[in-house]
Amino acid sequence: MPQLRQNIITGEWVVIAPERSKRPSDFISSEGIKPTTNLNCPFCADNPNYKKNRLKDFDVERKMRKLRDNVVIDENESIYVIPNKYPAFIEDESHASPRAHRLENGFYNVRPSTGGHDVLIIKKHEHQLYDFTDKVWEDLFKVAQKRYTHWRQDKNTLYSMLIYNQGINAGASIHHPHAQIFASNIVPNHITKELIGSEQYYENNGGCVFCDLIKHEQLHKVRVVEENSHFIAITFYAARFPFEVWVMPKTHSDTFENEKAETIECLANIMKKVTKRIGKTLQRPSLNFWLHDTPTTIDRADYFHWHIEIAPRVSTYGGYELGAGTVIDVIAPEDAAEFLRKPR
Ligand SMILES: [Zn+2]
Ligand SMILES: [Zn+2]
Ligand SMILES: [Zn+2]
Repeated sequence: MPQLRQNIITGEWVVIAPERSKRPSDFISSEGIKPTTNLNCPFCADNPNYKKNRLKDFDVERKMRKLRDNVVIDENESIYVIPNKYPAFIEDESHASPRAHRLENGFYNVRPSTGGHDVLIIKKHEHQLYDFTDKVWEDLFKVAQKRYTHWRQDKNTLYSMLIYNQGINAGASIHHPHAQIFASNIVPNHITKELIGSEQYYENNGGCVFCDLIKHEQLHKVRVVEENSHFIAITFYAARFPFEVWVMPKTHSDTFENEKAETIECLANIMKKVTKRIGKTLQRPSLNFWLHDTPTTIDRADYFHWHIEIAPRVSTYGGYELGAGTVIDVIAPEDAAEFLRKPR
């Protein structure tokens, strides 16, 4: 069972999930992701071995851990959703309090790592993120909204985060395109910092920091990459990654899953345009994006505004970035925006 361990010095949480990797040799391989064909791909539903293998695995796991009844949890035209085979957060049948923790040997703070872990699989094997149509983006966000709604109702879950890993340098381990939702019984470290900072800003300035930031960027325009009726995409002023782009709804909104279909269409369209610009400028780099929403325990937040952060992985953190937690970004976000606006 994965565990959540708290750093006794900083208070930050880590997940220890030993099921995912067992031997030192598992850490040494540098082969990268093997491009798979439909025939040997674990995520291709039309692969004749898919259902057999997958069902077999889940039969065993269901018996052992009483997992969900159906392997496919949700589905639409472009996407289907299954539970992760190696979840970082597992469903807790006992539904103990998500805050229940114990002290290990009277000293360290530890909790079972509970919640849920979905895999959102794009049905077309060959459709890498840079090839997604408006429809694929839209279906991805729509199914994610349904899963967010599900996890928000689960008392054991405090936070849901949609993430996408594209390419080996972004941590993707399976070639077939897929997103994931981590539904955790903690509010993740970064979110805690964003909540504290935005609440502080609200107290000091009487408004949402994200709304103010959008107004500022619209006025000065130097970091704006794309804009449509509902969304704006900007390179972030204090970027931690070269060409880091944030996508935000232009009017205040604290909950992603409550957005209307028309808004999700605009989101799909801006995500397609921005990733195309990044793909063209940086030749389809490895890339992550993640969605920051309000924790499930907060019904309404005037100070927090959901958003997506996109991080092209074209540089690697060195000792200072890791040791200091302070990043040295080698391109000014204003220059990055200019390159992205006029891709060569
Ligand atoms: Zn596949
Ligand atoms: Zn706002
Ligand atoms: Zn954020």
